[in-house]
Amino acid sequence: MNAAPKTLRHLSELSEAGLADGEKQAALERVAAQYAVAITPAMAALIDRTDPHDPIARQFVPDAAELDRQPEEMPDPIGDDAHSPVAGIVHRYPDRVLLKLTGVCAAYCRFCFRRETIGPGAKPLTPRQRDAALGYIAAHPEIWEVVLTGGDPLVLSARRLKQAIARLAAIPHVKVIRVHTRVPVADPARITPELVRALKAPGKATYVVLHANHARELTDAARGACARLIDAGIPMLSQSVLLAGVNDDPQTLGALMRALVECRIKPYYLHHGDLAPGTAHLRTSIERGQELMRAIRGRLSGLCQPSYVLDIPGGHGKSPIGPDYLSRDDAGRYRIEDFNGALHCYPPPK
Ligand code: SF4
Repeated sequence: MNAAPKTLRHLSELSEAGLADGEKQAALERVAAQYAVAITPAMAALIDRTDPHDPIARQFVPDAAELDRQPEEMPDPIGDDAHSPVAGIVHRYPDRVLLKLTGVCAAYCRFCFRRETIGPGAKPLTPRQRDAALGYIAAHPEIWEVVLTGGDPLVLSARRLKQAIARLAAIPHVKVIRVHTRVPVADPARITPELVRALKAPGKATYVVLHANHARELTDAARGACARLIDAGIPMLSQSVLLAGVNDDPQTLGALMRALVECRIKPYYLHHGDLAPGTAHLRTSIERGQELMRAIRGRLSGLCQPSYVLDIPGGHGKSPIGPDYLSRDDAGRYRIEDFNGALHCYPPPK
């Protein structure tokens, strides 16, 4: 009997699976020593070994280009540390906090904005730190929403998730619990009925935000995992990262947004690539991102439109950076651009 496929974590395993370039072995060893590597069987199975530009491989297989660090890149690109009053909490916006229960993920994305802090060696919150984090939330009545992030919270067992959600649900002013995860695509079998039940709490709204960057990630198994969440009454949104060579053309980006909507997942954010160390080869220009947003606005249903956002380095939060359709002419009248690029006066001239 063949053993079940396992997550690839070492370069030797990647080589054996035909996923590491032997000629770059020394450079890849240095990448793997710096940044966590894990490719789940679900993701490895999607990679076309004959395509040197495969968009799934580009997201998960280490690349020697990760050793090229640009001067503008930084270890904490979205400024989590500047807003962390206690371990595990990031309180950047008034009415919501991030709660990082774990620093582990099912698969490690090569463009990860927290790549300097996450990985299999990342220490989970100790019971004392977890108490302090929950105590912080309980002591701040302005916190309406808690975003479970990490790492990936859905690598935790159903039992541990249930405990964490129950403790959050016991805080009266917390009304919404949002879970950010890549697990439904990276390891769909983890979304068991027991785990789905663990995410729900009476009287509170749980949302799951799926991180997916290419339509091929939404396999039948991934679609099944999302359906188990949605059928249980958990609404789903998505977040995607704009990545050079992965989804930076209108057809690919459009196909991703449509696939998400077909799965009953509302596209929420398209993130501009963060200035994480060694990720310049995966970033596009902001102008390219705006062109793509214009292209999909014209072609695709409103349901398929995410908000294109930039996390301002230094911890200043997200701002929309999508194209602007409204301007003024020399006489100060509004001009509004339609999806074909034609300009119209508003109000229309008599
Ligand atoms: S799933 Fe999220 S936290 Fe984990 S490696 Fe990918 S981007 Fe980073």
